[in-house]
Amino acid sequence: MLSVSNLEVVYDDVVLVLRGLSIEVPAGGIVALLGANGAGKTTLLRAVTGLLVPHRGRITKGTVRFDGTDITGADPAQVVRRGVAQVMEARRIFAEMTVDENLRAGAHTRRSRVEVKESYARVLDLFPILASRRRSTAGYLSGGEQQMLAIGRALMAAPRLLLLDEPSLGLAPKLVEQVRDIVAQINAQGMSVLLVEQNAVMALSIADHGYVLEVGAVVRDGPAAELMADDDIREFYLGAPADGSRRSFAEVKSYRRKKRWSA
Ligand code: ATP
Repeated sequence: MLSVSNLEVVYDDVVLVLRGLSIEVPAGGIVALLGANGAGKTTLLRAVTGLLVPHRGRITKGTVRFDGTDITGADPAQVVRRGVAQVMEARRIFAEMTVDENLRAGAHTRRSRVEVKESYARVLDLFPILASRRRSTAGYLSGGEQQMLAIGRALMAAPRLLLLDEPSLGLAPKLVEQVRDIVAQINAQGMSVLLVEQNAVMALSIADHGYVLEVGAVVRDGPAAELMADDDIREFYLGAPADGSRRSFAEVKSYRRKKRWSA
């Protein structure tokens, strides 16, 4: 469904951030994109949604295809209309607006009032907490509620592919579980999902396939269950080194290789 091929992205015409990155999201699948801070995860999402321009970024090589159509460099409204919606990192909701207004804003690219009404009912069904807070100012919602609102707003565009940028960021474990269950539920209704996460356990527990990103390139990919069971990935993403330092995935890998050879 989404096919990113050999993508290169440059900021300010000089900073090369994505270096020939390729990923695939199949129809109906959940794909996890893992990687440390600065690996290029958000940049990849911006490249897909057409949001590089306001950040002075540019695709210099490669292609982005959605449902077989080339959408490389397409503008954001066009991408949304084609069926891709993004839930922003840090829950960028409109804090001054009500829950209701936030949700309706998510449907701004749609024409049919009847369909928008249907989506609205479906979103409130999925998030009963939002139904009871429809008239509340969004900025006063709790962190978890704001995350639900951010997801709900993206769903109002009736996407076929949902991009989520670190939905578990800053949430208590119980809420992370809730968000995970919601994503699984949305996927079960037929929506494809690209899930960007630093919380590898959360992401891999619902994903079919995962990619590990480092310095703008994919260093590893495979079925989610395989990545979850992988010692190197466990050490980097799930375990904290004794000295408190956090090594890169590539370092952990070469260290383990050396250890095997010297044994
Ligand atoms: P994080 O989880 O911290 O958001 P990330 O994997 O999403 O990390 P990106 O936000 O895509 O990574 O950033 C990748 C690299 O690109 C970083 O080195 C960052 O400093 C740089 N970068 C991001 N946006 C810009 C910009 N507008 N101009 C210049 N460099 C940028």
